[in-house]
Amino acid sequence: MDPRLPDDVALLQTETRRLVDRELRPQTLAIERERAIPPSLIALLRSLGYFGVTIPERYGGMGASCLGHVVVQEELGRAHPAFNLLVSGNNGIGVMGLLRDGTDAQKERFLPRLASGEWIAAFALTEPNAGSDAAAIETRAEPHPGGGFRLHGVKHFITRADIAHLFTVFALTDPKRRARGGITAFLVEKGTPGFRLARIQESMGSDVIKQGELVFEDCPVDDDHVIGRVGEGFQSAMRVLDLGRLSLAARSLGMMEELLALSLAHARTRTQFKKPLAEQPAIQAMLADTATEIAMIRPALYQAAWRRDQGESVGPNAAMLKLFASEALGRAADRAVQIHGGMGFMKDCAVEHVYREARMMRIIEGTSEIQRMIIARDLLA
Ligand SMILES: Cc1cc2nc3c(=O)[nH]c(=O)nc-3n(C[C@H](O)[C@H](O)[C@H](O)COP(=O)(O)OP(=O)(O)OC[C@H]3O[C@@H](n4cnc5c(N)ncnc54)[C@H](O)[C@@H]3O)c2cc1C
Repeated sequence: MDPRLPDDVALLQTETRRLVDRELRPQTLAIERERAIPPSLIALLRSLGYFGVTIPERYGGMGASCLGHVVVQEELGRAHPAFNLLVSGNNGIGVMGLLRDGTDAQKERFLPRLASGEWIAAFALTEPNAGSDAAAIETRAEPHPGGGFRLHGVKHFITRADIAHLFTVFALTDPKRRARGGITAFLVEKGTPGFRLARIQESMGSDVIKQGELVFEDCPVDDDHVIGRVGEGFQSAMRVLDLGRLSLAARSLGMMEELLALSLAHARTRTQFKKPLAEQPAIQAMLADTATEIAMIRPALYQAAWRRDQGESVGPNAAMLKLFASEALGRAADRAVQIHGGMGFMKDCAVEHVYREARMMRIIEGTSEIQRMIIARDLLA
């Protein structure tokens, strides 16, 4: 246990660490080979409540704090990022808008199913012509004379597009106002007429939990599926992404810890020039650099999550953590492959897939350039 964490968070960390080491981590290479998480492990995560870490207890969740969410994401990152991606919609960007701005009726209806893992949640903001510039979305929500709205548009790169049951979808309700009151968040259920998964988008990494393109063609959405108020969707998305950035920093940290553990084990056991690699100063320097970055990220991340739990706004700080942790992960993955030599390039070595997965962390939920823009805007404000 980490003595600096509150008791409930420390206990959650210990239990998750045990689960990761005993059940999840040993399956890493099999998951990579099969491109799927074994159903028995999904069932185990469901039964232990990992789909509802941040959902309040009254809806069947664990009711953990942001700090609790962060330590869970860190631990899961040590096993395989697919575990993070499997549960992070239900604990993060797929439910945060609903949790914060949803009506009681929406919460009663959806949260118990999400907390139990019976349903999976996804977040659909990005479009072919609107990535970093999210306010440029073209998906429209037109008021319908019979009530509610009709959605028209395309979303792409949407994680869990093929397995999700509930999508938070952002659409223009006032194209002239866009980010200033013209975008609204909607809850769209799988199976709604006019809503379909057009295709899975094959990717460099992260292909156990997939991304896909969603199409909305005259898709009806009732008024009671609007999250918060009409026109407040953009602000809601930006708040949700703040939490998402802490979550991604935590996943990056867990992945770095795993890279370091694998690298230490390899450096101790691999002998060249009649001694273990671990005795070579060049190898030691790489191990030391990764260990140093881990030691810098963890306390800063825990502190930001704790501050968020106290009600403080951590927007620019979350951007700094996402920026630094995702870039440090890239460096750590590169060093880990180098320490493993040719073995690090082979599919039967776990660092190979982490190297590929690491690349996406500098892109998702705002690229490094966009994080720097958020930080600089705050400095110059
Ligand atoms: C694996 C994966 C999973 C994803 N999952 C989801 C999801 O679940 N839901 C969702 O909504 N989206 C998702 N996304 C989309 C992701 O958030 C976007 O890819 C990301 O925001 C970048 O947008 P873009 O790809 O359109 O790049 P672009 O915006 O086209 O950017 C291209 C390059 O230009 C740079 N750039 C752009 N504008 C500026 C600027 N003003 N100054 C400097 N540089 C700039 C960018 O940093 C980047 O390097 C996912 C993406 C990936 C790869």
